[in-house]
Amino acid sequence: MRIHNTLTGHVEEFKPQREGQVAMYNCGPTVYKRQHIGNYRAFLMADLLRRALTYLGYEVTQIMNITDVGHLTEDDVADAQGEDKLQKEAARRNVDPWEIAREQERYFMEDLAVLRVPPAHGYPRATDHVAEMIEMIGQLIEKGHAYEVDGNVYFSIDSFPAYGRLSGNTMDKLNAGAGGRVEERTDKKSPHDFALWKRDEKHLMQWDSPWGKGYPGWHIECSAMAKKYLGETLDIHTGGPDNKFPHHECEIAQTESITGRPFVRYWVHCGWLEIGGGKMSKSKGELYTIPELTEMGYEGADIRLFLLRSHYRAPLPFDLELLDEAKTVRARLDNFVYHEMTERPDGTANPDLPKLLADTRRRFKEALEDDLNTSAALAALFELMHAVNKAQPGREDAERVVALVREFDEVFDVLSPPPQQDLDAEIQSLIEERDTARAERNFARADEIRDELAARGIELIDTDGGTRWKKS
Ligand SMILES: [Zn+2]
Repeated sequence: MRIHNTLTGHVEEFKPQREGQVAMYNCGPTVYKRQHIGNYRAFLMADLLRRALTYLGYEVTQIMNITDVGHLTEDDVADAQGEDKLQKEAARRNVDPWEIAREQERYFMEDLAVLRVPPAHGYPRATDHVAEMIEMIGQLIEKGHAYEVDGNVYFSIDSFPAYGRLSGNTMDKLNAGAGGRVEERTDKKSPHDFALWKRDEKHLMQWDSPWGKGYPGWHIECSAMAKKYLGETLDIHTGGPDNKFPHHECEIAQTESITGRPFVRYWVHCGWLEIGGGKMSKSKGELYTIPELTEMGYEGADIRLFLLRSHYRAPLPFDLELLDEAKTVRARLDNFVYHEMTERPDGTANPDLPKLLADTRRRFKEALEDDLNTSAALAALFELMHAVNKAQPGREDAERVVALVREFDEVFDVLSPPPQQDLDAEIQSLIEERDTARAERNFARADEIRDELAARGIELIDTDGGTRWKKS
C-alpha cells in the first residue's frame, strides 16, 4: 500500500508500527450544526481508507472524536478567535449547548448510517475527556512548552522549532504574515501562541482547572483523545483540508512536546469539495445536508459513490449533475448484478473467465494500493462488466462474476440491496397490517390490502399458522 503523506508531501510506502495493524484517528465533527456534504467528504475518505486497508488484509482500529466544546468560530488563524461554536448556536437557538451537542451527534450518526459508514471503534467526546486535557496542559507547562496568563494557558510556539512542518506555516512565515490575521492582545509571548485553556467563568460549558474555571482549546482535545485511545504514535491521522492548519499543526506541537516521539506516521487529508468554483465551506450558503439530498431523491449510496469515485486528494466540484451521474453509474451496477447476471441459462464454463477474474482482482487491488486510486479500481470493475456481458456467461460463470463484484463492493458499498428482499419485506409488512386490521375487525382495510397484493400478482393463503403468500 502506498499513501500520500501530507507531512512529506510524497506518496510513500505504508508501513504501520506493528505489522498488519493500523491505529487510525480521524478528526470528527464539531456538533453544533448538521454536517454538510463537504464535511462528509473527509469522513467518507476515512471510511474508504479503513475499508481498503481491511480489504488488503490489515486490522484497523479507528477512532473518531466528537468535538462538543472549544471549537471557535474563527478557526483558520494560528490562535483561533471568536466564539465557541456550540455556545454561539446555543444563544442563537436559546437552547442548552449540551442539548445541541447530543442532538447533532445523533444526527451525525444518522447521516453516517444513511451513507453506509460502519461505526468507528470509538467516538470519544471532548467533554468526556477534559481531565486528560488538563493533565496534558499541566505537563506542557511543566516542560516549559506552555505558560499561564491570568487563567489562560498558551502553547509557546517558540518552544517547538518543528512548528510548521505539516502545513508550511513555520514561525518565520507566520511572522511575515502567513496564518491569517492576528489579534491585538498582548498577554501572549508571541501573537501566534495558541490557547490550550481558555478562562471563562460565563461559558455555558465550563470546568474547574488548576488555572480556574474555563474550557479547553480545540487542538488539545484531539491530542488527548488520540493518545488515550491509540497511544503516543498513530499510524494514520486524517482530516479535511481545513484541518491541516492550524489544527493538526498544533496537535503535533502539543503531543510531541510531551512524548518526544513522532505523533503521526502518515497524515492523510482529502481535497476540498468545491461549489461554484470555490471551496465549499460553512461560511457560504449553498451547502446541502444529507437529509436535504435524500429528500431530493438521492440515496445514501449515490452520495457515497459521488464522493468516492474521484481521487480523494483532488478538488471535487459539487453539482447535482455529478450526483445524477453517480446515480446512473450505480443503476448500471445494480442492473448488471440483479438483471443481466441473474436467471442465466446453464452453459459451459468459459475457459478464459478465471484469468479475467484474477486479472481484474489484481488491477482492483493495485489501484487501491496506489494511494487509493478509486477511479482506476472502478474502471477495472466496469471493464469486467463489459467483457462479461459481451461473452453472455452461463449461470455458474455469472455467479462467479457477481461474487467478485460483491467482493469489490466491500470497499465501495454502493450496490443496492437485492430487490427481492425489498419486495419480501414490503409484502410481509402489508400482511402484518392486514392481520392487525382483521383483529380490529376492519375488514374493509383487510380486503383492500388483499386486493392490492392480488393486483401485483401476490396471492395470500390464510392458514392456522398465520398468513403465507405466493406468486400467483
Ligand atoms: Zn481534531
